[in-house]
Amino acid sequence: MRIWQKTLLAALLAFFACTSNGAENGVLTARFYESMFRNGHADVAELTLFFTGMPKGGDLHHHYTGSLYAETYLDWVARKGWWINPCNFRIVKAKEEGNCASITVQQLEANNTQYRKLLDLWSDKDFSNYYHDQPPPDSNFFGTFGYFGTVSNEYMHEGLDILKQRALRENVGYIETMLARVPVSSQDYFKPDLANQLIGELRAAKSQEEVDGLLDRIRSTLDGENGFHKKVDDYVSTLQSIHQGIDSDRFLMRYQTYASRGDNPLQVFTGLLAGFMVSRQSPLVVGVNIVGPENGIVALEDYTLHMRMFNYLHRKYPEVHRALHAGELTLGMVEPRDLQFHIREAVEIAHAQRIGHGVDLPQEWQAPQLLEELKNEKVAIEINLTSNQFILGVQGSEHPYPIYAAYGIPLVISTDDSGVSRNNLSEEYMLLASRYHPSYAKIKEYVYDSIRYSFLPPASRQAELKILDRRFAEFEKEMADFSGRMKQK
Ligand SMILES: [Zn+2]
Repeated sequence: MRIWQKTLLAALLAFFACTSNGAENGVLTARFYESMFRNGHADVAELTLFFTGMPKGGDLHHHYTGSLYAETYLDWVARKGWWINPCNFRIVKAKEEGNCASITVQQLEANNTQYRKLLDLWSDKDFSNYYHDQPPPDSNFFGTFGYFGTVSNEYMHEGLDILKQRALRENVGYIETMLARVPVSSQDYFKPDLANQLIGELRAAKSQEEVDGLLDRIRSTLDGENGFHKKVDDYVSTLQSIHQGIDSDRFLMRYQTYASRGDNPLQVFTGLLAGFMVSRQSPLVVGVNIVGPENGIVALEDYTLHMRMFNYLHRKYPEVHRALHAGELTLGMVEPRDLQFHIREAVEIAHAQRIGHGVDLPQEWQAPQLLEELKNEKVAIEINLTSNQFILGVQGSEHPYPIYAAYGIPLVISTDDSGVSRNNLSEEYMLLASRYHPSYAKIKEYVYDSIRYSFLPPASRQAELKILDRRFAEFEKEMADFSGRMKQK
């Protein structure tokens, strides 16, 4: 045999040895995972260890401000030289005297009772595990943003870096975070009389055609405003600068922008239009969303109108991706009719590519046909178990996860607001496994889907999928060794 033939043979043998070891490690890892379910009970600690190390691909339903912990925001309040009101625990920029004289963060932290009270209000910490005066859970959750909102947009580069470091330590390779809205205000471009007239006409419009006609008019006004274009440009350049140094060979961060569904429809459209423009302009902004409590009075009344705005903007900006919060509702929270069409309209009218939450599926009108549509359109559902349990009180067999899974709808596992909820992505996988016991192969499918259904451009998606292959090979080798050692004990 010639030297080159020998070299080729050696290389081939090494390749096959490596692949068969890899396959064996995969089998051992799957077996180890199954061993964590004994007599119908899941071993939560073992599952937590397993999922903390497991590559988790991307976190696709992720809010920037809700993902930082209150402790970080307190550090920033101290750094700004701001104060805390010890009566209502709100941030105070200039010292106040009197009965509720402002205290420093240092003084707050020296008083454990006050410090813990602040954490209760700035997050969901300790909400359920001891008796105390508390608002309804959804109010507690959404109320937290009002406490730390004053400081949350300071030090954004540092905030992104904190999220990146957290991701790296739990083997998350990609985050698609809802960062911030484009700070455009419809009041700057429409006088009050005209604004009120347009708001009235938008709400009275009965069809997509009527809405389109109004949106054409609003868009052409905004298009003629230099100030509006400047806000869009500034957003793009600010983002570029705070993003510097965030991407690395082990981690990528991309962004969604959004409008708030509680605003009046003129403001919602102004924000969405700016969002679509930003996304067209910046490769860092990969999609547009709509956020805020879905059960708010305005959010409910304007729901279809918002979907029609997305429909309109999708035709103008077809390359901009759309993920929409939809169906984050449950019976009793709203009237039954409001549970019946939100997911459907997000898909059929707004052409959402991913649905955030999708919890009200069992109540949706003609759910079996809707499932078929989700499957055919390859719409992914972003599953947020901790958040749904807290805000909606939906967990276990009340959650539609098993229906989506059985029907073969693409699913991605995500955190929603890991700072407010004080969770992380590993815990979401642990909850999924301990509650529903999907196979290890299924779990891997969800991880790969978190890249396949991300809004990254195709080439980056392919590159991330290859990285996942390597990470799983490393993880499965580690777990194969570890499970062997666990057995010896
Ligand atoms: Zn969300």
